[in-house]
Amino acid sequence: MLVLEGISAAYGPIRAVRDVTLRVPEGKIVALIGANGAGKTTTMRTIAGLLRPVAGRILFRGERIDGLKPYRIARLGISLVPEGRQILARMTVRENLEMGAFFRRDRAEVEADFERVYALFPVLKERERQLGGTLSGGQQQMLAIARALMARPKLLLLDEPSMGLAPLVVQDIFRTIRAINAAGTTILIVEQNVRQVLAFADYAYVLEHGEIVQEGPAEVLRSDPAIAAAYLGGR
Ligand code: ATP
Repeated sequence: MLVLEGISAAYGPIRAVRDVTLRVPEGKIVALIGANGAGKTTTMRTIAGLLRPVAGRILFRGERIDGLKPYRIARLGISLVPEGRQILARMTVRENLEMGAFFRRDRAEVEADFERVYALFPVLKERERQLGGTLSGGQQQMLAIARALMARPKLLLLDEPSMGLAPLVVQDIFRTIRAINAAGTTILIVEQNVRQVLAFADYAYVLEHGEIVQEGPAEVLRSDPAIAAAYLGGR
């Protein structure tokens, strides 16, 4: 569904990602892991069109998308749930969800999708009229994911959805991510909770200093001693 071929991305003179090649097959959950500053967020922002790659190609369902504006990429079916959630604190839950669907014209379908995301996250239904900023961290993450789903993505990009959340809430978020995937959405996820993400991802890539240094089926990486030493120690 998504293919990155030799992608490099930079902030001015600083090369953050170098020659990244990866693929996300339809229907799968693919994880991107690596230390802080490894280039995970940069990779996600480049796929979403927020950053233009300096080299390489990105193909989505066979069509080249690198260089397209973010809204065009979103319309093709890619939604990014950014690091730090970035929900609209002074808008209600309902209004935040409306923002996710703003470019859609199929109003009847949008209404049906409200019901679908409320079924997935009942707490958002209960708090429909509440301001986003008054939600707990976990609820804000749910809202960020729900908002992305309102665009009806084929591919969901999740950048550290568990960041700053209590373990039980993290379990909840991960369970929901599996349910979203089971319902047909392909997922690329960046996670610091390496042990947990490798327990449900199909395949994973390891980024170090902007480069892919290892890849494989998640269960293979999980039992790899080098991965265990670098990312699973004590957690
Ligand atoms: P984190 O887990 O901290 O988000 P990451 O793996 O997502 O880490 P990136 O945020 O992609 O890493 O950062 C990759 C490199 O690019 C780092 O060296 C970082 O300092 C640099 N970088 C990130 N954003 C910018 C920016 N806006 N301007 C300049 N350099 C940046």
